[in-house]
Amino acid sequence: MATAAGMDDDCVMPIWKSYLYHLQMQAPKPKRVVCRRDLGSRVPFQYGREFHGAISREETDSLLSECDGCYLVRESQRAPGTYTLAIRFEAITKNFKLFYDGQHYVGEKRFDTIHDLVADGLITFYLESKASDYIEALSKESNYEESPYYRNKYRKQRELLIRSPQIYEGIGVKGSYERDAAVLRGDTTDSSPKEDKMPIDVTKYKKPHNFKVHTFKGPHWCEFCANFMWGLIAQGVKCQDCGFNAHKKCSEKVPNDCIPAMKYVKRVFCVDLTTLVKAENSPIPVVVEKCVKEIEARGVEAEGLYRVAGFHDDVETLKLAFDKDGENADISESKYEDINTITSLLKSFFRELPIPLITFDAYPYFMEAVQKDYMDQDERLQKIYHAMSLLPPAHLNTLRYFLSHLQRVAAKHRINMMSFENLAIVFAPTLLRSPSTDPLAGLTYAKFERSLIELMIAHQDILFQ
Ligand SMILES: [Zn+2]
Ligand SMILES: [Zn+2]
Repeated sequence: MATAAGMDDDCVMPIWKSYLYHLQMQAPKPKRVVCRRDLGSRVPFQYGREFHGAISREETDSLLSECDGCYLVRESQRAPGTYTLAIRFEAITKNFKLFYDGQHYVGEKRFDTIHDLVADGLITFYLESKASDYIEALSKESNYEESPYYRNKYRKQRELLIRSPQIYEGIGVKGSYERDAAVLRGDTTDSSPKEDKMPIDVTKYKKPHNFKVHTFKGPHWCEFCANFMWGLIAQGVKCQDCGFNAHKKCSEKVPNDCIPAMKYVKRVFCVDLTTLVKAENSPIPVVVEKCVKEIEARGVEAEGLYRVAGFHDDVETLKLAFDKDGENADISESKYEDINTITSLLKSFFRELPIPLITFDAYPYFMEAVQKDYMDQDERLQKIYHAMSLLPPAHLNTLRYFLSHLQRVAAKHRINMMSFENLAIVFAPTLLRSPSTDPLAGLTYAKFERSLIELMIAHQDILFQ
């Protein structure tokens, strides 16, 4: 890709720090001290020849005295049936209560073999002994703005904006995109207020990282502090949505600026909407846009459009296709002749969102607009308009896009029989869910939910003016 002017500084490779990697290489290696006596059936099934029976601490010391890294397992003399792992380190025997539940462990980390447990332990002892101050300072002294992740992330963002103007077309925000891209390219210092009422640029709003403890295969470096992630398993955490690797402690200092990527998110259905659109780098989910375009291309005149369900197996197959191929999923008429397959797919996309399109947080504010008898329509729309400001950008953009589609469907209601009211009956349970866990409350709200959706479809042009 051609490098845009002013981006050269981004091409400087981050400097990875290898001090801890070299220390890990120097750590003592595990050396199993085998038992010479015949213990017969007294050896528990989970142990091998490293098991020495109920020997004393003194005997353990002398058996391990050969070198650092020597280890054995013994049974407690005072509490038979409990086991101790003894490891020699810096000429001292360290004793740990040893557990087994299918895997071996002395703390949080679980290992398939005692050998791996000891190897990992020796690395930890060695690093703590040689570099405890250094490790203590890793997350404290590292500056996020100078981290490899931060540099890489901003390079990615600029590339996205400069490379993909088309994704901002068609929803009336191209002007805003062009200005953003120009500012990022350094072509202009324009800071005039944006005329768009709603935030739309997927790179501009926040999403927390989704860090989980991770076992890295092969050497890995922390993208926060640039240091090696030591140990054999559970060396650090990885963001499940963007792949950010970090020490656990370092991850606590990372701000909520995750930019998910499809290669980590890996699916389209049952994913948080903000995560999905950020991963797709699209203002609205690709699956929604693609299905709406297909439905409109076939005309929206089928009787009972959205009310009639598609064939279940076809819908499931199509879902898998979207999870696997994303925007390349084939939903053409030659493949799926029945339009109800496409409409059912869209409905299940919305229904399976972990947080509904009209979010749990915003739900009570939307309901306020329809629950009171005395309000006139203008007041109700006013309330809805304010409630919409509580929706996250991904939700708001998608709502806008989808409601305008539903209005076009309703425009053909004499042919397809789908009036605002009928569409509301179909979509109220799909687009919003009461945060209340009381099933009776759900029933009470159903009527109001339908009025709300009906009002929103009928007046979407005013709401999103
Ligand atoms: Zn992330
Ligand atoms: Zn780190």
